[in-house]
This record gives sequence, C-alpha cells and structure tokens, in this order.
Amino acid sequence: MSRIAYVNGLYTPLRDASVHIEDRGFQFADGVYEVCEIFGGKIIDETRHLARLKRSLSELGIRMPVEEGALKVILRETVRRNRVRNGLVYFQVTRGSARRDFVFPAADTPPTLVVIARPVDRAKVEAGAAAGISVITVPDNRWERVDIKTTGLLPNSLARQKAKLQGAREAWFFDEDGYVTEGAASNAWIVTKENTLVTRPAESGILRGITRTTLIDLAKRDNLIVSERPFTVAEAKAAREAFITAATAVITPVIRIDDIVLGDGKPGALAIKLRAHFHSVAEHSA
Ligand code: PLP
Repeated sequence: MSRIAYVNGLYTPLRDASVHIEDRGFQFADGVYEVCEIFGGKIIDETRHLARLKRSLSELGIRMPVEEGALKVILRETVRRNRVRNGLVYFQVTRGSARRDFVFPAADTPPTLVVIARPVDRAKVEAGAAAGISVITVPDNRWERVDIKTTGLLPNSLARQKAKLQGAREAWFFDEDGYVTEGAASNAWIVTKENTLVTRPAESGILRGITRTTLIDLAKRDNLIVSERPFTVAEAKAAREAFITAATAVITPVIRIDDIVLGDGKPGALAIKLRAHFHSVAEHSA
C-alpha cells in the first residue's frame, strides 16, 4: 500500500508530495509542527496538541492554515488513508512560499500545511520500552525559544545523531549550570528515593510536552508527588529511576546516563507502571 500525504489541499502519494523550493520552512525553518500518537485508531491528546500548535503559530505570527475543524478532518483522513491503527500523525505549518527574503512575505501569503501519518510496530516499541534506553548528555546549544515547537531542529538532530553513534537512544541537554533541560525530542524525568517525580518547570529551557502535561494529570489521579524543579545531570545519575516522555515514546524508562547505569540496570518500576496507565488518562479522539 502506498503512503499518502496531505499537502495544501491535496492528498497525494508520498513519493510525489512536494512543496515549493522557496517555501520558508525549507529556507528559514520558518514553521512549526506537532506529532500526535495514534493508539487503537484514535488520536491521543488532540485537544492539547492543537492548542499548542495555535500557540506556536501565534508566537511566530503565522496564521492557522485552515479552520481547526477542517484540520481535524484532514488529520483523520490522513490517518485513515494510511490505515494507521497504531503510529503517529505529523503535521507541519510554515509561513508559506515567497521570494527569498528575511523579512516576512505579504500577510495574505497562504501558509503551507503538510500532514503525514505512519504506523509503528507496537510489539517492537513495547519490547524496546521494556528493555529501557540509554541517554547521553550534551551541552544545550539551542536558542531560548524552545517553548515554540519549530521545525528548527538542527541542534536536536545533531544531539540525537551523537547519541546514536554512542549506542544511546536519546541525548539530554544540560544548561550552563549543569541542570538537565530536556531531551532532543522528549522531556526528561527522574524519580527520587522518596518516589517523587521530578521534571524541569516548563517556564524555561524546555518545550511544554503534551505527554508531560498528561503524565502530571495521571500522577495527580494516583496521588503521586510531582516536583517541577530543575535537576542536575549528577542528581539524575544518582536517581532511583529516570525516564523520558514524548508523544512518540509515551513514557520510556532510562537505564543508563552516559557511563552510569541506574540502579540495577533495569527499567524502573514506577516508570513501567506509569507507562501502562498513561492511556487511561489521555484523551482519545475518534
Ligand atoms: N521536547 C522536545 C524538544 C520535543 O521535540 C518533544 C517532542 O517531540 C518533547 C519535548 C515532548 O513533547 P510531546 O510530549 O508533546 O511529544
């Protein structure tokens, strides 16, 4: 079955899907995106992802490409046409295409909207999570507006590639004071000896992850203590457990940070439990 992409009003085979070479997303990374998990054919936490998309667009002064209701229809149609039961839907909006100029194009330039969906092998993903992942730590060299989910992801890509070359799955950025900010494409968490869940406040240095927000809901429901405070790389290496959150990873345990094996080297019990319960609090949109 050939994969189908949505590009500016048309559903086309992925191999033929294209945008203009003067699209500002291509030339300036002048665009934003979202990724939602597809679980059992449903879009997970769509309301929060769409709210964050609108916030990202508004921070950059880019218009919504279509009405929210129409966008929801396009997301579902792209998922349906690609027959995704479990996987992800990726959607990206750029400021559109115009003659290359650092200054914004005319306000009536139509934004570009691209949507793709792809399945994941759930058994493989679950096996990976059950094994746990390794992370490396790298200095955070990104701009200060990481709260906006832009397509300007070169530092994140370089960090992930470095992780891969070192046999790790994720890279955690740390700031000038040695505090972990977040992963290249995930939020970072630790669990203290007292079983408190610790994650950096979303006010600075991180993207306010939707999975992070929903996990805070789950923790409240289960009477767990969440402390939104910065933690250092050293504290993480001595933590009882560590894990990452992201729409594509849900909650995935971390078993090694750089050369330090956490605890007994097995995924933490709390992380595994939270992963198992996550979808019972997340929003599922048909
Ligand atoms: N932080 C960064 C830099 C990310 O790229 C992502 C997801 O791609 C996240 C955090 C996690 O966000 P979410 O839970 O909304 O997927």
